[in-house]
Amino acid sequence: MALVNEHFLKLPESYLYTDIARRVNAFRATHRGADPVNLGIGDVTEPLPPACVEAMREAVEELGRRETFRGYGPERGYDFLTEAILKHDYAAHGIRLGAEEIFVNDGAKGDTGSIGELLRWDNSMAVPDPAYPVYAESNILWGRSGQQEEGGAWSNLTYLPCTAESRFVPHVPDHRVDLVYLCSPGNPTGTALTRAELKQWVDYALENDTILIYDGAYESYVRETGVPRSIYEIRGARRVAVEIRSFSKTAGFTGVRCGYTVIPRELTVSTLEGERIALGALWARRQSVRSGGTGYVAQRGAAAVYTPEGQEQVRALTDFYLGNARFMREELKRMGLEVAGGENAPYLWLRVPEGMTSWRFFDRLLYEAHVVSAPGCGFGPHGEGYLRLTAFNSAENCREAMRRIRKIL
Ligand SMILES: *Cc1c(COP(=O)(O)O)cnc(C)c1O
Repeated sequence: MALVNEHFLKLPESYLYTDIARRVNAFRATHRGADPVNLGIGDVTEPLPPACVEAMREAVEELGRRETFRGYGPERGYDFLTEAILKHDYAAHGIRLGAEEIFVNDGAKGDTGSIGELLRWDNSMAVPDPAYPVYAESNILWGRSGQQEEGGAWSNLTYLPCTAESRFVPHVPDHRVDLVYLCSPGNPTGTALTRAELKQWVDYALENDTILIYDGAYESYVRETGVPRSIYEIRGARRVAVEIRSFSKTAGFTGVRCGYTVIPRELTVSTLEGERIALGALWARRQSVRSGGTGYVAQRGAAAVYTPEGQEQVRALTDFYLGNARFMREELKRMGLEVAGGENAPYLWLRVPEGMTSWRFFDRLLYEAHVVSAPGCGFGPHGEGYLRLTAFNSAENCREAMRRIRKIL
């Protein structure tokens, strides 16, 4: 008899997006012919940048010829991609990293959770509240998050409330924790940490021997000066921070799958006896057991992001989504709604009208305005009372959604 990993059974029955899809399906069944605008799921809508398409087409051709065929690639990624990342994402911003500190992956989501596999189950952990649900849920498997309680909180986690009073920025807790997830610009609130705010976190981590897992999936949406794009812009961060990035929201790679994780050489973890071990070395070993690397075609596509045409196209793509965000932000404000985000991120964080819950307002937008959103409570207890709207749609659909919402308010 094979026994199940009991921790797994603590996971909620369905992921947030499954709940949303179920409600949208019920709506469609009773409203035939209605055409809801989807501003709910955090997935991109615009096609791939032509530079990436061309690079991937060539890569496929190479694989189809005997002389240029390639099989398994290097586990940590091809040099052509790693070198482009080092040069454009780091060296160009004054950050020195080495090739052995970059680990190319098939999307950031997996690594975000898998890093926890290298750490003892009883490390204490903190997450922003609200946050990307994957941080808490992926740590369930090792028993690190505890049990999910009424209201959605996990019993073993420290929550870092991101509230209107704190401008939706997570602040350092009053006690030490071993592991902290941070996301900037943040999903779902769309707000970004300033240099001073990020420095507080790095100082906290240095003081408390804490590891920061810094999710930079939306780095390419940063437009404001004074908002760091990388945590390594902060002195000392190399000793405490893992940085995870993705081509998903940058270049529309949600279906292609490619990202990367940075683990600096100085970042170490401790044995019970106090011996320090480099986390990057452990991760390299883990990859050789767990991962077959990232597809050659995807990596060629990702490398094309760093060509001059690629840079221009990616900038246009993120500008396009940010344009949608700005437009919707202004419209919603004009309707008298309280809204955050949308300046350095493709997300708007909307306060629901007084006296309503997230799901109540979600249903109202769906049934009366035919607009799909994401209820804030799905991202953590402090998300209750909010909705997330994404700018991932056509400009026309964003305009239409605003027209429809104005009509019902
Ligand atoms: C979309 C997203 C990612 C990226 O996921 P991929 O697996 O690379 O597609 C990571 N973190 C957050 C917060 C996200 O919203």
